[in-house]
Amino acid sequence: MSNKTALVFGAGGFIGNHLVTRLKNEGFWVRGVDRKYPEFGTSDADEFVIADLRSRQEAEKSFDRRFDEVYQLAAEMGGAGYVFVGDNDFDVMSNSSLINLNVARLCTKESTGRVLFTSSACVYNENNQSDLSSYTCEEHTAYPAQPDSEYGWEKLFSERLFQTLERNVGVPARIARLHNIFGPRGSWCCGREKAPAAICRKVAEAAVGGEVEIWGDGKQIRSFLYVEECLDGLRKLMQSDCNEPLNIGSDEAISINELALMAIEISGKRLSLRHTPGPQGVRARCSDNELVEQLLGWRPSEPLRSGMEVTYSWIEQQVKLTA
Ligand code: NAD
Repeated sequence: MSNKTALVFGAGGFIGNHLVTRLKNEGFWVRGVDRKYPEFGTSDADEFVIADLRSRQEAEKSFDRRFDEVYQLAAEMGGAGYVFVGDNDFDVMSNSSLINLNVARLCTKESTGRVLFTSSACVYNENNQSDLSSYTCEEHTAYPAQPDSEYGWEKLFSERLFQTLERNVGVPARIARLHNIFGPRGSWCCGREKAPAAICRKVAEAAVGGEVEIWGDGKQIRSFLYVEECLDGLRKLMQSDCNEPLNIGSDEAISINELALMAIEISGKRLSLRHTPGPQGVRARCSDNELVEQLLGWRPSEPLRSGMEVTYSWIEQQVKLTA
């Protein structure tokens, strides 16, 4: 057990809430900050501050003491139905930039031990991901830059912001490019949910013999990482000396159709797929784990199916509770 202190921005969100629990279990004293409390369950944080991090004054009130480790996860965020439809681009760019500028400036305080920023696989160049045979995501291929969304452009800007914090101010900054994190206690309905949760919900809601709606032809390829595996990677990255962005993802590539069939098999129901037009993002993307394995000795320990079983069971329970 340690007596270390941690500050988690975005502690009311999916990954932030799990991270607070992990840090508490490791013996940290933890303060969580968010504009809202966690939607599912409670927070294990020792203190939870409600603050709108777009405001400098509000951000400052949450950062009035020394923290050994600062995790910056707060962002204007959602799945394909939120970030790829175009309607939310200004909110994504302006709100997340303001949050990151405020947090980075607060981290210039001498009392900051180190900071970790959660970037995204959406920073990668869409031209490398336009057909099913190419899903290059080696870290250096983010440049020359051509992300597929404003969400990706904002993340790229903020990666560079946190890198300057280390370079010019001397605060160690770690950058994780997360690839599709999923698990219990994440958004599962109402527009901000991501593919694994949306598919589990559709399967759980479907009557036996019914259909599961899939956006596009379902052949688009992705990889998905279970949240506990993600936390292992984030903790290793935070403790490391690595100041370049690193992928934290799974390299188990799977099509959306195959993911849906996996959820259907887990449910034990007899269901078929129905394809409809919808936002899809790039054609193919999968984490490349060579560098992260080499530098951190980290790789996912379980296959996708294990995490999907836990997640399906949690979402099925939520669907029943709200029926
Ligand atoms: P999430 O939406 O559940 O959590 C983000 C949190 O930020 C939310 O609780 C939200 O209330 C908070 N927030 C937003 N605006 C705020 C504001 N103005 N003031 C205070 N809090 C504010 O998302 P998540 O899935 O937990 O993702 C955490 C981080 O990881 C985000 O930065 C996200 O971009 C990044 N990421 C996640 C994934 C994924 O698959 N979940 C993939 C790539 C990157």
